[in-house]
Amino acid sequence: MSRTVLVTGGNRGIGLTVARAMADAGDKVAVTYRTGTPPEGLFGVRCDVTDPEAVEAAFDEIEAQHGPVEVLVANAGIIRDALVPMLAVDDFAAVLDTNVVAAFRVAKRASEGMLKARWGRIVFVSSVMGFMGSPGQANYAASKSAMLGLARSLAWELGPRNITANVVVPGLIETDMISDLSDRRRDELVRQTALRRTGTAQEVASVVRFLAGDDAAFVTGAAVPVSGGLAMGL
Ligand code: NDP
Repeated sequence: MSRTVLVTGGNRGIGLTVARAMADAGDKVAVTYRTGTPPEGLFGVRCDVTDPEAVEAAFDEIEAQHGPVEVLVANAGIIRDALVPMLAVDDFAAVLDTNVVAAFRVAKRASEGMLKARWGRIVFVSSVMGFMGSPGQANYAASKSAMLGLARSLAWELGPRNITANVVVPGLIETDMISDLSDRRRDELVRQTALRRTGTAQEVASVVRFLAGDDAAFVTGAAVPVSGGLAMGL
């Protein structure tokens, strides 16, 4: 089955891996990219998800090319780490703006077409840090736990129209995002991981694909960890 898929932040890391996995499975995949060039072989739309006009224009372009978005993967995210005394309010707000407000913005826009079609899948990419908290990441953790309340509210609102909203909760995944992590913090987190290793973007993509597919038709409002056991039970 070929669905119209949009992956935000789909030019690298987890987003790109999800986009490629869904394209390989036969979906019509569009990705947003904020910087650089669109990934080869995928339909890329330049879009900063914090810019309302850019998001509107991106949806228009995707709809013209592929039709209404049926599967949304709200993946774009940033970190701006600092301990609270040093954490500027602007950096707190910027992380919330990209990670939650923009996720809401794209979900709201995508849900218009999904409501008309009476079918849709929304997957938010959260983080274990939203559940366990993390020193130096008050902004990031706040943004990632907020995604759960957002997803569960959407699950209630959209469920009657056969639209699911779920959250994947990755642990430590090898991408650019963790490249600046100190060895000490990395070792500490790996030690707290039952499988004693970091994960791959592919391992996250498999779960996103499941949540976006027919096999997950009765799964909504769920927070699915992909963390090797890091933060299990939270
Ligand atoms: P990367 O830093 O590799 O990728 C982040 C992606 O988000 C990039 O494509 C980036 O685009 C995009 N992005 C950031 N800000 C914006 C914006 N304003 N508008 C549009 N796109 C934007 O990180 P990951 O692939 O690791 O992260 C993907 C998601 O997974 C994030 O939400 C992250 O929080 C989450 N996650 C990651 C974990 C990890 O260990 N790696 C663990 C748990 C969750 P650009 O290239 O243009 O900057």
